[in-house]
Amino acid sequence: MAENFKEWLEELKGRINIVDVVEGYVTLNRKGGKYWACCPFHHEKTPSFSVDESGVFYCFGCHKGGDVISFVQDIEHTDFMGAVSILAAKAGMSVPEFSHKGDGAAVSKRKRDRLYALMREAAAYYHACLMSEAGRQALAYLDGRGISRSTVKSFGLGFAPQNGLIEHLREKGFGKDEMLDCGVAGESRGGRLYDVLGGRLIVPIINNLRQVIAFGGRVMEKGEQPKYRNTKETVIFDKSRELFGQHTIKKAMIEGAVDSVIMVEGYMDVISLFQAGIKNCMASMGTALTVQQARLLKRYADKVYISYDGDAAGQKATMRGLDILYGEGLSVKVVSVPGGKDPDEYVREFGKRGYMDLLTQAKPLFEYKLDKLAEGYDLSVAEDRGKYAVEAVKVLYELKNPAQVEVYMDYISQKADIAKPVLVKQYAQGGEAAAKPIPKLELTRKRGKYYNAMRYVLYALFGGAEEACEQDISQYMTDEEHKAIYLEYERIRCTREPVLDDLQALADKYPEVEEIFREGKRVTEEQAPQLFRDCMQSLEKEKNRREMAELTKRIDGEKDPVARDLLLAHYAEIAAKNKK
Ligand SMILES: [Zn+2]
Repeated sequence: MAENFKEWLEELKGRINIVDVVEGYVTLNRKGGKYWACCPFHHEKTPSFSVDESGVFYCFGCHKGGDVISFVQDIEHTDFMGAVSILAAKAGMSVPEFSHKGDGAAVSKRKRDRLYALMREAAAYYHACLMSEAGRQALAYLDGRGISRSTVKSFGLGFAPQNGLIEHLREKGFGKDEMLDCGVAGESRGGRLYDVLGGRLIVPIINNLRQVIAFGGRVMEKGEQPKYRNTKETVIFDKSRELFGQHTIKKAMIEGAVDSVIMVEGYMDVISLFQAGIKNCMASMGTALTVQQARLLKRYADKVYISYDGDAAGQKATMRGLDILYGEGLSVKVVSVPGGKDPDEYVREFGKRGYMDLLTQAKPLFEYKLDKLAEGYDLSVAEDRGKYAVEAVKVLYELKNPAQVEVYMDYISQKADIAKPVLVKQYAQGGEAAAKPIPKLELTRKRGKYYNAMRYVLYALFGGAEEACEQDISQYMTDEEHKAIYLEYERIRCTREPVLDDLQALADKYPEVEEIFREGKRVTEEQAPQLFRDCMQSLEKEKNRREMAELTKRIDGEKDPVARDLLLAHYAEIAAKNKK
């Protein structure tokens, strides 16, 4: 038994082979010392996804890469701990509980496992009720909304009879405290337990590891209040960190053809769109989007459509959500559903085709913002046009990319019919903008120590130096052009030994190749081996530094004390390596 997490993780890593793990998801072909496949993370026809037996993977198309843990994180859309537990299960190891001295808030893993088991049992019970005599009315209600039996199954929908759950859970050996801790039961003044969602249609909230963590309950009679009720937040359910629809979107992504996420407001929107064949939807659970949810969303796609309800509350929620998503680096478009309808109503009336048309008309974030702003002005009046331009230019201060400032200057200029130089002046003068001049497009590329080190390593590779050919140097690359050059070179090397003509062809395509040769030639034969080792060492250090920065971010955001400890141990491991 390992004494601490670090040792345990070593043991786990020793027992699993990245090639076996990846083979569980894609078919690999061995070529040129590596394994290749079409990338499971982006759509492609020729394989650019490579796996190296040394323990790393890298995609030359979308530049995803990392070790076996990050592979599982990416493909299962889970965090570090989630990936570790999946791999541990594969290796036949159980994730141990390491002690948390002085951490009173730590909830033992055993307790959480009990709560997960209770929720799974409750979900099965509710589902069975829906399918039995007790659920006749609820099933008729779903039929009335056009929800098919297969959709009912995909989401594990259920029905809660008034109080059957409590008795059922008791029979299964769950205690009063566990029922209260899970949020499925409430306690009356007389000390009697009752099902908090009794009489409602049940929507299980399932996390990315397919565990039931909460329930949503919807009334079926018109006028009954509240329309929706969720089980409370518990040690296994933190509303601000979860999204509804993760298990269905994950399945859709493994089946392929998902490159974006559609964010909607409610469960019924996700379910109706799914039923119509639009399976890449998720919903936040009755709250404005949080930063944690935006980060979770980013694990699924970089592109997001925000498709909230047409009512005023929806509009406000849209605005807040947009800024959070943009802040996390997602590409955001806003879908407008005509006639104040919600996506659920719209897709039921106009079908998949109708809704997909709305997606193609979705506006990029800043276009939406500028149009929204314009609604408050009468742009046929000169004075209003001026006022609008002043406010519109302020919106542009939020843009991170200077090229986009350019684009939207044009947009405002056309919309308000005001000459662009006037707007540029306004931009430079306006309030806070005085301190914030138009950012200059960075034309010169960042060239530093690591960039030059990679140049030399590529030079050694092209020269056929053994130590360069044996390495998987792709894991150290950060520069896009270097990655592209390496991919092409490796593609050749898969089939035959590259010749001078190949390098000439590469140089014709990428001016950087010529630079690599120009600089590399300065190195004498005696200097070469030591220089190569130095370069590799500094690249390794830089890679570790990037990983540590990434881990620091994750540690800051991790609330679960066990997961946090594991991350810290992982961090310490890399930090120790970097000291050498
Ligand atoms: Zn890829």
